[in-house]
Amino acid sequence: MGAIRLDGKVCAAKVETSLISRIQTLVEGGKSPHLAVVIVGDDPASHVYVKSKERACERLGIRSTRIDLPADTSFDKVMATVDSLNQDPDIDGILVQSPLPRGMDELAITDHILPEKDVDGFHPVNLGRLVQGRLDGLLPCTPAGVMHLLKDVELDLTGLKAVVLGRSRIVGMPMALLLAARGADATVTVVHSRTSNIEAHCRDADLIVAAVGRPEMVRAEWVKPGAIVVDVGINRVEDSFNERGYRLCGDVEAAADSIASYMTPVPGGVGPMTIAMLMSNTVRAAEMRNTP
Ligand code: NAP
Repeated sequence: MGAIRLDGKVCAAKVETSLISRIQTLVEGGKSPHLAVVIVGDDPASHVYVKSKERACERLGIRSTRIDLPADTSFDKVMATVDSLNQDPDIDGILVQSPLPRGMDELAITDHILPEKDVDGFHPVNLGRLVQGRLDGLLPCTPAGVMHLLKDVELDLTGLKAVVLGRSRIVGMPMALLLAARGADATVTVVHSRTSNIEAHCRDADLIVAAVGRPEMVRAEWVKPGAIVVDVGINRVEDSFNERGYRLCGDVEAAADSIASYMTPVPGGVGPMTIAMLMSNTVRAAEMRNTP
């Protein structure tokens, strides 16, 4: 028997439904939420992600404004764009789509977004609040989405040995903090490219969250029978049998499904939750900005 599917599409739909009445309240108060998305350059994957975000806004009646800047836009121009969105009282949330053109200082741009409009949850103020254990603000969307997915199936993580693969500031690190936070109470190990014997860490884990961007790096036999597996990775690998010439796969070998107790599919697991959490953060930002 295969693992129980942690279905991100189903869970994201529930999150969206739960936002509708809050959006309605904001609209009735004359403040319909408004998200601004800045995209620099023509990275095809980024355009696909931005389109999904726009579609989610449309579904929910959240206004969205997209600002397309050419790939040769200067750093100063991007900063000035963020400035004007910061100052615009009609904008509740600002997102600058990653990756930015090579050499552009992404951290400086993140720092420049007002923390109360930082719906990605990457600003140092928002990450700092997370380190302090204050979980009521704007949390990074992907790790927050993973927590939501686990909560939705009422998994008790207390005392579980969790291994997070990856230590990025947008996924791995905030993921580890959320799993270790009071209320979640997992015991967390973070592994990265300098960790030795990752296989042994995985074999000992009750919960694996893989966010490395390495196709099927976590082999099925590394998964302890009954472990929970969350696969954040979305990788394109060449596949001549597929009419598109490639297939999508995660950071965990799909065969782990027959060993794990719960597992996310790729696609359709963490991806939809990331967008749902962006919608949730946008509504939260609008509420925070309009609460006296
Ligand atoms: P990232 O910034 O490139 O970070 C990757 C992390 O993995 C780094 O900490 C790196 O270690 C570690 N790593 C790389 N190769 C490794 C190896 N062989 N062994 C152990 N650790 C290794 O990537 P990211 O932004 O966190 O994203 C990770 C994956 O999640 C990607 O596939 C991305 O597409 C996917 N993603 C999905 C969503 C979604 O919504 N589903 C959202 C965001 C990201 P070092 O720090 O030592 O370099």
